[in-house]
Amino acid sequence: MSKNLIEGNNIFSEIINREKDCILVTMEEPFALIKDNVRPKEVIFNCDMTEDNLKRLSSDKKEGNIIYGFGGGTACDTAKYLAAKWNLPVVIVPSVVSVDAWLCRSVAVRFDHKVRYVEDVNPQRFIVDYAILKKGPEILNKAGVSDVLSITTALGDWNIARREFGDRYDISYYNASRNIAVNLLSRETDISVLNEEGLRAIVRGQLEEVLLCEEWGNSRPEEGGEHFLGYCLEEITHKHYIHGLLIALNILVVLKLQRDEAVFDYKKMYGFFKNIGLDFSFARQNITPDEYRKALLSTPEYVKKEKLYNGVFSRRSVFDGQGEYSVDGITEWAASLKN
Ligand SMILES: [Zn+2]
Repeated sequence: MSKNLIEGNNIFSEIINREKDCILVTMEEPFALIKDNVRPKEVIFNCDMTEDNLKRLSSDKKEGNIIYGFGGGTACDTAKYLAAKWNLPVVIVPSVVSVDAWLCRSVAVRFDHKVRYVEDVNPQRFIVDYAILKKGPEILNKAGVSDVLSITTALGDWNIARREFGDRYDISYYNASRNIAVNLLSRETDISVLNEEGLRAIVRGQLEEVLLCEEWGNSRPEEGGEHFLGYCLEEITHKHYIHGLLIALNILVVLKLQRDEAVFDYKKMYGFFKNIGLDFSFARQNITPDEYRKALLSTPEYVKKEKLYNGVFSRRSVFDGQGEYSVDGITEWAASLKN
């Protein structure tokens, strides 16, 4: 499997201006970066991924023969959604690589404070314009490492799932996934200054990880307890978090909880996140210890209810009664992490 991905500097406006009848789906902020240089036939702005709003948007069919999605996850997902509804080809152009959604075939729709994946869209191509990415918010681009480094926890969970729950497993996928994380970790210096090589490393990691999961058939090689704990916290608080910051924090917590089964050392991962300048502290994310404690306690039930993959949260006793590995101990430790 592969994806048709074009990379370069200052290539986006030239490519989109070759289109005759193009519908551009974007948001105000990214659009401001390009508006003087592009001439689409129609521009659609959207920042609301609720199902009702997307239905309303799609019922107002615009004239055009191709859709370009330009922005973060919301703009790219809206473009994919409309492409599916209007039966048009779609080209995806990320303005920031904070999450891997721009590369995914699915569209994340919000429904009752939960994310539901609808549609299955295969974009005609992807354009990565590093001149644009360099103008994006640094913290968001850096947070893009988390959707690759969630591999570090997903693999420990996968081992637990295989040994303790008899889940499907394949050593070649396991190793391929591990290599993707190891490669990204080796680019710490470039990512910390976020030069073009650093951005390329994040794009490469997200691309490889998404392709690997598509080949495997689901996100098992990349997703585990770190994401599930995040979803559970979102369900409890209804707050919006910067995805990559929340996942970075949860990676450390889940690695610690995995103990002997952890495939990566949480101290080393903490060092990496610190060195690249990712601030995922409770204060930065507006998380209270009480909320986080509740999420930790609720995740085992959440994983069962939502039929998510087995892992550390599927164990009968995730936490020890007292001390470092008790729910209070883990909460206190998580609250102490800062950059
Ligand atoms: Zn994610």
